[in-house]
Amino acid sequence: MNFDALSYKLSPLQVEYSIRCIANAHSIAIITHQNPDGDAMGSSLAMRHFLQAIGKDNVTNIVPTSFPDFLSWLPGANSIIQCELQPEAATAALRDADLVICTDLGEPTRVAALSPILAERFNEYNANNPKLLIIDHHLSAIANEHPEQIAYPDSASASELVFRLAWQLSRHASIQDRDHVEEILDNTRDILETFSFPKALTPDFATCIYTGMMTDTGNFSYNSCQPEMYSIVAMLLTTGINKDAIYDRVFNAYSADRMRLMGYCLYHKMRLFPEYHTALITLNRREMYRFNAKSGDMEGIVNLPMQIKDVYYSIFMREDKIPTHQLTDANGAKVKTKISFRSQGNRPVNQLAREAFRGGGHMNASGGEYFGTVDEAAKKFVEEMPKYMQKT
Ligand code: 5GP
Ligand code: MN
Repeated sequence: MNFDALSYKLSPLQVEYSIRCIANAHSIAIITHQNPDGDAMGSSLAMRHFLQAIGKDNVTNIVPTSFPDFLSWLPGANSIIQCELQPEAATAALRDADLVICTDLGEPTRVAALSPILAERFNEYNANNPKLLIIDHHLSAIANEHPEQIAYPDSASASELVFRLAWQLSRHASIQDRDHVEEILDNTRDILETFSFPKALTPDFATCIYTGMMTDTGNFSYNSCQPEMYSIVAMLLTTGINKDAIYDRVFNAYSADRMRLMGYCLYHKMRLFPEYHTALITLNRREMYRFNAKSGDMEGIVNLPMQIKDVYYSIFMREDKIPTHQLTDANGAKVKTKISFRSQGNRPVNQLAREAFRGGGHMNASGGEYFGTVDEAAKKFVEEMPKYMQKT
């Protein structure tokens, strides 16, 4: 196997900064975004496996909200601190850690009730006293200002970036062209010696990275044309992981209720706006209750209408409780509506998500929210549609 098949995507500055972060930290907390998906879970758990493989023994994974059942088998998932279940433990782990690593996350706002504590860490940011490391593939304000942070919106997944960091750390060549590298190497020689592939390339690490890469590309069916992704997959497979079994555990894991919910959405709830090549599906709380819908059960419904010829935009809306930390923002609303936007090709949806629905995201996959019922949110969307959706 050729373990040299990648380019050095991360800059020397980023690699050095990561080394300084990791070398100086005794306790490390890894956090990812609320409603964690396969990439959030995969990238954050992989980071822990990597850190443990290089000798860091005080590493904690935190998730702000629950994760779906079809990800609960991931190696290490059983020891994650879930903030909704253990708010005090989550708060303490995040606040007291020497180093906080954010994977698939670049803004302190996307961690539900933990936002104020994470915001403190962002506000106190000081590259000379590294206590915060971001590894993300979203646009991130802090990463724009601080080039030592790792944020690449052109990467298909945060998991790929975690892999690249681990891989580059094992390749001293990627950090040798810096003036002060000798000094850093002197201070961190012990830890650098342990950054070795394939030692850190364990089956658990590989399973988590593969899961994140697979889920954020729809099993390598979109955002998946960069050749190096497949070099990474090839390296992961050398650990003996079974990628077909991972697919099976993630994608063939629906409950009967969830299958029926999908049928209901498509048959009864999908509205088509042919002029705008747009499909809209909405679900209220009563309907979700009827199908016993749990967190994660709604994942992927937004993608279904994209399989229709000539549908280029798909929007999925579902009602949600307003969490206590958002009550002051809610302006008296009784419920909020969570919205997913998807599009195909050169048809951005992030501007709509940002301007009309307090959200944002990638060009073809964004999200947002609306304080009000799903019917009110749908009405607003239909009003906004002509401004944002292309007719061709
Ligand atoms: P999903 O529809 O799967 O919940 O989210 C798709 C993408 O949209 C996420 O990967 C994330 O980049 C973005 N996103 C979702 N919800 C929000 C939100 O409330 N705010 C922002 N800024 N981005 C979001
Ligand atoms: Mn992601």
